[in-house]
Amino acid sequence: MGRSPVQSRPEAPRNKHGCVNSDLITTIETLMDKGFLVNMQLKTDLYINGQWVKGAGSLAVMNPSTGKLIAEISTADQAQCDDSVTAAHNAFSTWSKTPSRVRSELLRKAFEIMTAESDDIAKLISMENGKTITDAKGEVIYAAEFFRWFAEEAVRTPGDFRQAPSGDKRILVTHQPIGVSLLITPWNFPAAMATRKIGPALAAGCTVILKAASETPLTALWIIDILHRAGVPAGVVNFVMPEKTGAMISRMMHDPRVRNVSFTGSTEVGRILIKESADLVLRTSLELGGNAPFLVLDDADIDEAVKGAMIAKMRNGGAACTAANRFYVAKPVASEFTEKFTKAMEDLKMADGLESGAQLGASVSRKERDKIAELVDSAVAAGAWLNLGGVIPRGEGAFYPATVLTVKEDNPILQYEVFGPVAPIVTFESDEEAIALSNASEYGLIAYVYSSDLKRAIRTAEALEAGMVSINRGVISDPAAPFGGVKQSGLGREGGFSGIHEFLETKYIGVEI
Ligand code: NAP
Repeated sequence: MGRSPVQSRPEAPRNKHGCVNSDLITTIETLMDKGFLVNMQLKTDLYINGQWVKGAGSLAVMNPSTGKLIAEISTADQAQCDDSVTAAHNAFSTWSKTPSRVRSELLRKAFEIMTAESDDIAKLISMENGKTITDAKGEVIYAAEFFRWFAEEAVRTPGDFRQAPSGDKRILVTHQPIGVSLLITPWNFPAAMATRKIGPALAAGCTVILKAASETPLTALWIIDILHRAGVPAGVVNFVMPEKTGAMISRMMHDPRVRNVSFTGSTEVGRILIKESADLVLRTSLELGGNAPFLVLDDADIDEAVKGAMIAKMRNGGAACTAANRFYVAKPVASEFTEKFTKAMEDLKMADGLESGAQLGASVSRKERDKIAELVDSAVAAGAWLNLGGVIPRGEGAFYPATVLTVKEDNPILQYEVFGPVAPIVTFESDEEAIALSNASEYGLIAYVYSSDLKRAIRTAEALEAGMVSINRGVISDPAAPFGGVKQSGLGREGGFSGIHEFLETKYIGVEI
């Protein structure tokens, strides 16, 4: 049976030797004094076979807005990573045969707990990731929805039964869970990227091991705790934070008991995982980087385009694989768009994500912030005109200001995923030119098109090399829609009707009749 949500004060966090960390207590008590985290008991251990387990080592989790420590979490040694595989493997035979209605109801329960705790989860996301509380709240709602959507999908896996065209047999097609699945998630959506994988995996009947990004494990641990409290049986869901990510994940991917890897993160790491998966021919789903073009055609409603651009660029402070990364604007409307968009960017309030009215939070770390600064500096060195921003503010927080550049179509910044609040604008003469410029990228996750002529917008959408196209909207991510990219943005789809199939094998049974 699941436990009820904990209402007590948080347990004093301990370091790797089990000693109470006094700085950390102070941090948490200060947060409690501010009225935050009142219902929270931070989980900081590994979760293996239904138990919270102390790790062999520890990892500090920092608040990028202040540079201060939030907590230390346990890290797993090789034996603990192996234990998580054993637990998932042992649980698979029962879980895969558990009636889908039962699996569905557990996911539904997780949705309900997550929704009830959404305010506290949002605060934790903001603290460990740096995003604004508004973005964090949006993420929690989006994340919880994957539990609800896949609770509904769990009981609707289709099959097929028909006569072979030759008439000699019946063709029976069914779907079965793949097996133990390794789930690896990034820091930019620490809740949603976890639920987008755990939801369909559990719905399909797979057991899982979650490895969250080292910058944002606390949100993932909270989600694991929700599943624990919802009553998910021991071994079905496991959480490890390997001491050495690359080597230990590689070893897990060479364990024949692991059959599937679902990864969201950079294209660079995705390529490594494709190579790692080759030896045992593992199933892989890869949601990788993006470099989204945002097209404003000459008949677009410019005020609407600016509104959409602000959402497409600035949701999550620009740290989204779906973030508009390159703005292609038709020449006749370029100066109006640039002026209005720059003004909207200038008006944003940059502050600690938890501060009321904050519209642009910190990057996840100073290292990530410095990568953004480097790309902007190189763009300027290559001839970009800086309309706004471009200078790192003073202070401990990993802040980078809203930045607008006017660039030529060959500026190197257009080839990179910037992952921050930076908007390079290029002008174009014809729709064909805009499409060609958009497609001149190794990425193909999402593209945005603004036009008041729907036929023209759809024609453009069809010509764009992207797994998703958003017409006259700044955001289209939806748990009920297939999310994924083409080219080097990934393989497979998450969400929608396709998501559960990333965790199912198709089996054909030929029947003599
Ligand atoms: P990342 O550096 O690729 O890391 C993602 C995850 O992979 C982390 O958990 C990381 O662990 C782990 N990892 C790193 N090296 C590994 C290796 N050799 N073997 C196995 N796992 C490894 O990405 P990120 O910086 O966290 O996230 C940003 C990227 O994610 C961007 O490119 C963004 O576009 C992409 N993203 C894509 C989508 C999508 O749906 N297409 C959604 C969100 C984000 P450690 O933290 O321990 O290094």
